[in-house]
Amino acid sequence: MQTPTLYLVVPCYNESEIIKLSIETINKKLESLINKKAIKKKSKIIFVNDGSKDNTLDLLKQYKTKLIEIISLSTNKGHQNALLAGLNYAKDNCDIAISLDCDLQDDIDLIDKFVEKYKEGFEIVYGVRNNRKEDSFFKAYSAMAFYKIMKFLGVDIVYNHADYRLLSNRVLKCLLEFKEVNLFLRGIIPMLGFKSCKLYYKRNKRVAGESKYPFIKMLSFAIDGITSFSIKPLRILNLIGILISLFSLIIGIWALISYFIGNTISGWTSIVVPMYFLGGIQIIGLGIIGEYIGKIYKESKKRPLYFVDEIIK
Ligand code: UDP
Ligand code: MG
Repeated sequence: MQTPTLYLVVPCYNESEIIKLSIETINKKLESLINKKAIKKKSKIIFVNDGSKDNTLDLLKQYKTKLIEIISLSTNKGHQNALLAGLNYAKDNCDIAISLDCDLQDDIDLIDKFVEKYKEGFEIVYGVRNNRKEDSFFKAYSAMAFYKIMKFLGVDIVYNHADYRLLSNRVLKCLLEFKEVNLFLRGIIPMLGFKSCKLYYKRNKRVAGESKYPFIKMLSFAIDGITSFSIKPLRILNLIGILISLFSLIIGIWALISYFIGNTISGWTSIVVPMYFLGGIQIIGLGIIGEYIGKIYKESKKRPLYFVDEIIK
């Protein structure tokens, strides 16, 4: 197999505390790969500045090397869109693209193995973390619940894999054919098919700066992921409706029997409890349906996902 051109795609948002170290570390990695002729000389690192409000962009410009290109988005669009901007840019020039976070939490030495796997014929290589010890108790468990729920709802995602992965150029082009506004990469990539494999690594703590994904953002990401990929919640809702109807049939029979027995002035509880219960279920139902309508609303407008402010080569 020919030596591939590798593009590393690194989204960053308000990462001034770590960006210098990040540039140095990733640059060194790419240099070493070029030196040992694992990848072509024209390989690059694409830093996508996702509309940072601190001086991340200035620092990127200041410490930029000749291996680095910067895409700066016009405003903050979120990690998935920033990643997509980078991948879109990479697709015309690279044979393989690897996406990674700029906080150096993902084991950078895995990149060598990613490239080896590609040379063995794999077109998608998933980086999968095999520990969650560094995460807070809460993050670890909420993440686990997320994967379990996704699996239950029939969405094929790779357990404990975030966005550290290698894609071949062919796969990249297929991926970019999806024109969804609600793009949930972790769900779409396994859908593409192609020969894939997993590589396991130990995920580290953030060296500096803090997570841009607090609980609320994670929750909204999870809801987006679920409702972009599965209509099972709607079906479950339907099922609950059917069950409640059956139950009310039984209650109806019971009421009739009570009437004939002459026991009609039964209590207040049997009215009030179902009232609140059904009220609750109806509102949840509306909420779930609303979530999907919201998705349709966004998709129908087909708004562009990001705008590029400047590209620095
Ligand atoms: N990020 C981004 N845009 C955002 C939020 C985050 O580009 O709106 C980047 C961030 O700079 C980092 C990566 O996405 O490189 C992952 O974010 P973070 O490390 O905060 O998430 P966590 O690892 O805690 O899930
Ligand atoms: Mg992180």
